[in-house]
This record gives sequence, structure tokens and C-alpha cells, in this order.
Amino acid sequence: MRHAPKTALAWTTVVTLWLGLGVGAMAREPLRVVASIEPVAALVAGVMAGAGEPMLLVKGGGSPHTYALRPSEARALERADVVFWIGEALETFLQKPLHALSGKARIVALHQGEGVVLIAGDGHGDAHRPIWDMHIWLDPVNAKAMVSAIAVALGDADPDRASVYAANAERLRARLDRLDATLKRDLAPVAGRGFVVFHDAYRYFLRRYRLGPVAAIAVNPARQPGAGTIRAVRERIVALGPTCVFIEPQFEPALIDAIVAGTPARTAVLDPLGSDLGPGADAYFTLMRTMAKSLVDCLAPAG
Ligand SMILES: [Zn+2]
Repeated sequence: MRHAPKTALAWTTVVTLWLGLGVGAMAREPLRVVASIEPVAALVAGVMAGAGEPMLLVKGGGSPHTYALRPSEARALERADVVFWIGEALETFLQKPLHALSGKARIVALHQGEGVVLIAGDGHGDAHRPIWDMHIWLDPVNAKAMVSAIAVALGDADPDRASVYAANAERLRARLDRLDATLKRDLAPVAGRGFVVFHDAYRYFLRRYRLGPVAAIAVNPARQPGAGTIRAVRERIVALGPTCVFIEPQFEPALIDAIVAGTPARTAVLDPLGSDLGPGADAYFTLMRTMAKSLVDCLAPAG
């Protein structure tokens, strides 16, 4: 009987230790986060720095407009705590899988993020259902609002690390300010210069840096442009004079020859997705600087 209190104490200690370890282990486990496209994954990676990494869905030259989910990616979605995407008008392939997830994961459509400024796109929207251009990340000021929305969502899902996400977001927003200033300076020489792009993805970039006007070869990147569209684009190229036709790595480049043959246009590549840039926040900054460099190199070549 004399030993009873000691045993009870020992048990209490064990239980306390076990509970403590359990809680500690749960807090240490990183959030399972899925991001739809590279620019979203890059911004999420920046906010999560030191606290985990997002899993990227659309990679290796895939287009969010035409992507098909692999079984392994569908399983990762099912296990996710938080999923970041732009919205169904861009990543249409995610609409059904995310609907099936409802209630299991936090699903964050970044085009609805507080402070994200939307530009109307093509199509027949009305005041109640306008058609927005969903390429919102191609403006660093929008990217700042996206970063804030990402930090809030991650902090809600993982309150223990909310301060980490908030501090990372603040650093990222300052870095985005510096990027914006650099791009303004670098793109100033080609302001107001017209050019041709593969698909209508650049309204945000053009407006922020006063570029364009542009003609798009494919309004809907999920469909090949017809002969009428190609003829119209050729007429625009001739009207623009010596200009640049920018193709994208995500799309079949074969028809570019049919478009530029016999015109004074140069061709170059613009990559609004940066699908091969790899993990980490730097991918977003590389994507934006590479786009600016391609534009300047082609529209205002040195010498
Ligand atoms: Zn697009």
C-alpha cells in the first residue's frame, strides 16, 4: 500500500508525457497543401517557407486550360488540408474533384482573394456573372493580394504557425514591390508597342506595364484557331509592321509558321506559367523577369 501513491504519480507522469508528445507531434506535422499551377505554388511556397512545401498539380508543360488529373494527384487532393487554385474559369479540370472534396479540405479560390483586382475577359458575361480574365498572377500587385490571402488561409488551417506565415507573407510582399519597380523600369522602353500573343493571357501584365495593343491567336486555348482567325491575325501583323509573335511552350508551335510566313514579324517565346521552374518562391520572380526580358529582347533588340 505504501507504494500506491508512487505508482499513481508514475502513471500520471507517463500519461502527461505521452499527451505532451502527442500534441507536440501533431503540431510539428506540416500542413498538406496542394497548389494548382506553378505561379500559385511558388507564392504558396514563399508563404510556407520553413513550415513545409505545397504539392504542385500542373507541371512539365501542361496547360491549366486542358489538364487531366493523374490518379496520384487525385489521391494527393483527397488527403489535402488546404487546396489553392485560381478558380474554375482557369483550372476547369479541378472543378469536379474539388466539389467532391467539399468539407474535407479548405479550398481557396485566389481570384476571390481580398484585394485581388479583376479585369473583364472575353465572353458573354453580364453584371451578375461577368467573365473575368483569370490570369491574375501576371500583375505583382495582384500577387501581393494573393500572398495575403494565402497567409490568412494557412493561418486559419494551422494556427500554431500563423505567425510564421504572416512574417513570410510580409517579406514576400516587399519582394514583390521591388519586382514591380524593376519591371516598370525594364519595360518602359517598349511601352505602347504592339505585338501578337498565342492566347489571351496577358491583360494584367499589359495594363500594369502599359504594353500593347496585342492580338491573340487563340481566344480559347483549349481549341485550335481556325483558318479565319489565322487570316485575321496575319492582317493584324501586317498592320502592326515589324513586330513580334510570341508563342507559348504549353501549346503546339506548328501553326506559328503559317501565321508569320511572308510577314516581317519575329517570333519569340512567352511563358505565363513557368511550368518548369521547379519548387520555391523564386519561380514566380523568374517567371515575371523572364517574360519581361523576352518582350524587351524581341520588341527592342539591342543594336
Ligand atoms: Zn491561360
